[in-house]
Amino acid sequence: MKPVSTRLYALLGILAFATYVWAILYFLPTPVPKEPTYEQGPHLASREIPTNEFDELITEIKNDIGLPNIKVVVRVGPYFQERNLIAAIILVYQPTYYIVLDEKFLKELSPEEKNATIAHEMGHILFGSGSNFDRRERATTEMLADIFAARYVDQKHVSSLLDKAYSGYMIRKQRLEILAQGQ
Ligand SMILES: [Zn+2]
Repeated sequence: MKPVSTRLYALLGILAFATYVWAILYFLPTPVPKEPTYEQGPHLASREIPTNEFDELITEIKNDIGLPNIKVVVRVGPYFQERNLIAAIILVYQPTYYIVLDEKFLKELSPEEKNATIAHEMGHILFGSGSNFDRRERATTEMLADIFAARYVDQKHVSSLLDKAYSGYMIRKQRLEILAQGQ
């Protein structure tokens, strides 16, 4: 059996080491948070839009869909089109809905087309966005959101928005036809 003093020194050594580790961790400067990446969430890798031009429209739509108390934040993000995403998305991080717009794309839009974009994304609150694995279901929700948007903005602006957003996109033509029928 070891003498008591050896065990005491061992214990003191462990304590000293623990204190040392604690002190290092305590006094280390807090790491500066890195800019969030797109992969961590497009709503993080974006900034709040410096305008209230959509507030009225969003309030109107929230009331119309019977969800007056939800929080909808519009943000402008990096270039989604470069990531094969389309011009705008809506993300739900309860209790907040984030509409994230592609900054570059937004510059190409008229005020009416911007409103059509917001209304379309708000339509997704009502109709969902469909399953990632079911193309037809996704297409259906897109068409419903288009028709929904046309309740708030003249259909021609929704069509021209689609023209700009979905050039080359396979269901674009179908969406435009359905939109025209919905009128
Ligand atoms: Zn959509």
